[in-house]
Amino acid sequence: MKILVLNAGSSSLKFQLFDMEDESVMAKGIVERIGLQKPSMTYTAKEKTKFEKDEPISHKEALQWVLDTLTSTDHGVISSLDEIGAVGHRVVHGGEDFTGSVLIDDKVIESLERNKNLAPLHNPPNLTGIYATQTVLPNVPMVGVFDTAFHSTMPEKAYLYGLPIELYEKYKVRRYGFHGTSHHYVAQEAARRLGKDIKDLKIITAHLGNGASVCAIKGGQSIDTSMGFTPLEGLVMGTRSGDIDPAIVIWMMRELGMSYDEVDNVLNKKSGILGLVRGRSYDMRDIEDWMAAGDEEARRAMDVYCYRLKKYIGSYAAVLGGLDVLVFTAGVGENSPILREIVCDGLEFLGIKIDKEKNNVKGDAIISAADSKVTVMSIRTDEELMIARDTYRIVRGLK
Ligand code: ADP
Repeated sequence: MKILVLNAGSSSLKFQLFDMEDESVMAKGIVERIGLQKPSMTYTAKEKTKFEKDEPISHKEALQWVLDTLTSTDHGVISSLDEIGAVGHRVVHGGEDFTGSVLIDDKVIESLERNKNLAPLHNPPNLTGIYATQTVLPNVPMVGVFDTAFHSTMPEKAYLYGLPIELYEKYKVRRYGFHGTSHHYVAQEAARRLGKDIKDLKIITAHLGNGASVCAIKGGQSIDTSMGFTPLEGLVMGTRSGDIDPAIVIWMMRELGMSYDEVDNVLNKKSGILGLVRGRSYDMRDIEDWMAAGDEEARRAMDVYCYRLKKYIGSYAAVLGGLDVLVFTAGVGENSPILREIVCDGLEFLGIKIDKEKNNVKGDAIISAADSKVTVMSIRTDEELMIARDTYRIVRGLK
C-alpha cells in the first residue's frame, strides 16, 4: 500500500509518499508560500526539482498540485491516484480526546474543531489540510497522528499546574507535551538498536530542532515532558524562551505597555537563541561558527541553551529513578557534537560519559564511552515514517 503523509502548516504543506511494502520514500517535498505571491514546491523523487506558480494558491490547490506532480509523466512516481491507499495527517494538538492515532471521521473532525483554540497556530492549518484532502481525495481513508498523543500517559502529578483546579476542569489548562511522534520513534529505535525490550528501559529523549523538548520515558511510556499547555514551555529554543517566571509576562504588559500580541511575539519569535544573540540568528550552525571565532555572545547563548537542557536531564533522571539511555535527536541534536559534549559534561555522576571521538558525528551513532553506564545515542528522527506506520496499521485494521 502507498501512503501519503501530510503536514499542513499555515503557509506550507509538507508531504511524503511511502511504499509500505518496504517503507521506502517514493517522493517527498514541501509547498511553501501558500496564500502568498509566488508559491513554490520543492519536490524530490528521482531528483530534486523546484517549481513555482505566479498566482497565490489555497491549501486545496497546493494539495492538488502535489497530486498532479506525483502522477505527472515527467516527475511522477505513481500512475494513478487510486494507488494512494490512505493519507496520514500530522495534527499538533489532540487535547485530551486523543490518546493515540485515529481514523478521521466526522466525530474526530468535530472534536478537532472544538480543540482548535488550544493550538491556535497549528490546529487550524492541520484541519485545513484534512478538509482539502476530503475534497480532493474523497474516497481515501485518513488517519490523524497527534503530537500530543504519546504524552497522554503522563500522570496527573506531571500534567497539572499549580493553578486553581477550575482552570483545568473548565478550560483544560494543563500540560500536554508535543513532539510525541518523534520522542516515541527515537525511543523505539534506541531499544531496537540496543536489542533491548523498551519495557525494561528508562530513557530520556531530547528532540532539539527549531522547537525543542525533552521527554522521560519509562517502560515505553512518556511520564513527563518539557513542553506544556503550549509548545512554549521548557527548553530554551531557537526563537522561544522556554521556562520563564510567568510574572515577566505581567511585568512586560504593565511596565512596558505591551499588548498580548506583542508579548506573544517576543516569547515565541524573538527569544531563545535568537534573542540572546540580539536577533542575529537562531540557527545553531551560526552559533557554532561564531563560537569558534571567539564570539562571547554566541558562547553565552550556547551555555544558556545547554544549561537548561542539563537541568531537565537531571530532573528527569530523578523522575525516572535512574537512567539507561539518553538520546539526542532532530536538527540540533543529531548534528551538533559540541552541544552534546557541553550538555553531558559533568553528568558522569549520573553514569553519562561521552566518548569525544565517537561523538564527532552527525546522524546515527552510539556516542558514549564503552564504560559509560548510560548509553548515549544520536538518532535521526523520522516523524513521517512513524505517521505512515500508524496510518498503515489503522487502515489495514479496516479491511
Ligand atoms: P524543525 O524543528 O523545524 O523540524 P529541525 O529538526 O530540522 O527543525 O532543526 C532545524 C535546526 O537544526 C536548524 O535551525 C539548526 O539550528 C539546526 N541544525 C541543522 N543542521 C545543523 C548542523 N549541521 N549543525 C548544527 N545545527 C544544525
